[in-house]
Amino acid sequence: QIDSTVSITVVGASGDLAKKKIFPALFALFYEDCLPKHFTVFGYARTQLTDEELRNMIGKTLTCRIDKRENCGDKMEQFLQRCFYHSGQYSSSENFLELDRKLKDKEVGKSANRLFYLSIPPNIFVDVVRCASRTASSPTGWTRVIVEKPFGRDSQSSGDLTRSLKQHLTEDQIFRIDHYLGKELVENLSVLRFSNLVFEPLWSRKFIRNVQLIFSEDFGTEGRGGYFDNYGIIRDIMQNHLVQILALFAMETPVSLDAEDIRNEKVKVLRSMRTLQLDDVVVGQYKGHTRGGRSLPAYIDDPTVPKGSLTPTFAAAALFIDNARWDGVPFLMKAGKALNTRRAEIRVQFRHVPGNLYKRNFGTDLDKATNELVIRVQPDEAIYLKINNKIPGLSMRLDSSNLNLLYASRYPREIPDAYERLLLDAIEGERRLFIRSDELDAAWALFTPVLKELEDKRIAPELYPYGSRGPVGAHYLAAKYNVRWGDLSSQYS
Ligand code: NAP
Repeated sequence: QIDSTVSITVVGASGDLAKKKIFPALFALFYEDCLPKHFTVFGYARTQLTDEELRNMIGKTLTCRIDKRENCGDKMEQFLQRCFYHSGQYSSSENFLELDRKLKDKEVGKSANRLFYLSIPPNIFVDVVRCASRTASSPTGWTRVIVEKPFGRDSQSSGDLTRSLKQHLTEDQIFRIDHYLGKELVENLSVLRFSNLVFEPLWSRKFIRNVQLIFSEDFGTEGRGGYFDNYGIIRDIMQNHLVQILALFAMETPVSLDAEDIRNEKVKVLRSMRTLQLDDVVVGQYKGHTRGGRSLPAYIDDPTVPKGSLTPTFAAAALFIDNARWDGVPFLMKAGKALNTRRAEIRVQFRHVPGNLYKRNFGTDLDKATNELVIRVQPDEAIYLKINNKIPGLSMRLDSSNLNLLYASRYPREIPDAYERLLLDAIEGERRLFIRSDELDAAWALFTPVLKELEDKRIAPELYPYGSRGPVGAHYLAAKYNVRWGDLSSQYS
């Protein structure tokens, strides 16, 4: 007899995320032989589709890795034959019971494990969890639920959501996904720090002057601002993706690589952080303008955005960790839409060399001489370290140069998408890259007061032109802490 099977149900299968990310990631795992031998994929949504229509829909978005094109078509066909669809309402126990019957028909073996991926708007999370847990939980194996952000809008709503989910699920069954944690260079952060003698001893206030977490997109909401307007950039990017990276970056050495040991350390960092103050935040919103004969829209030109919206599409913030390791070190965050470039990176600026013998070679600007470690999460993954070097020749001229690890040259194989890693982890029960309730509470506690203040005082965002470097206020905020944004001043940015 077969030992176990896995059934993966994508709830909201007709939606954008399912088509764009979830089904392609499942196929990539199948292609790489990473899925269990006996698995079935179900799509669930209200839209009426047959199994064949679902297969046609998702078949269009599947791709094979560049380096292994052979038998791609066969593999796709094999994968699609394992995909089925059930149409139902999100709050109907009866419809989930029908799904349960279909799942049972496919499941063989001693234990049938079930994974539900909630790729739906947050207002229906609890309905689905209630119905699925009552009528479609596995009677013989594990049942796990992946939940997509947003996890609430503030401490209160996030706490309410967690309490409601926990009426039907245990903490162990809830897999809160933050796809940034599945990105290759974010996973590599701990490897870089804990397995290289040259980094870990420097990882503190003694040697690090500031840390910058930067996220920018070079496009606006482009007609999909309805969802965004209710959240804004602080909730959409900072409170989750950037804070998660910060916690991983700044945590103490965990006892082991076990999920709970790592998550314990992340919570400790988050709880040691100072609540963000209004004085340490700059908000912006992009405005329309014309460039090269092309007219670029303002955020409020998006027809799905309410007129006169004050929702920030850009924010910069200065955060502090009040513990022995990081006391006084500014952690600067910057996130924005419709900027001049698309990137996500971590920049670590080191202190000046005490009594630098070559001081006069740098003129009055010693900042030019500081070492900087850059971890570029996307695009063009890379890690590089800015060092000072003598320009070859008879004179003593110095240059800031890069020790450069470009992933595309060193590791030409395509990097798996974050969703692949996270789905595989959820199937394997590896919780390290998922967010525990207490982590989420601590992250919301940092931002909730300032979000409330911004809204209560109706603080107007500083306008910046679409495609620009963002509002000038971000520079003043950095200057207040004697920091320059590395992405704007570096010749390698
Ligand atoms: P979506 O396309 O708006 O919605 C997914 C499906 O949910 C839809 O196909 C629809 O299916 C159903 N649905 C939509 N609105 C509904 C409503 N008001 N009431 C009941 N059902 C509704 O969403 P998505 O972009 O795929 O995202 C899914 C989830 O992932 C959301 O929580 C989103 O915040 C999160 N997320 C998305 C992305 C992304 O890149 N898209 C990235 C990160 C996180 P039926 O009408 O067929 O039932």
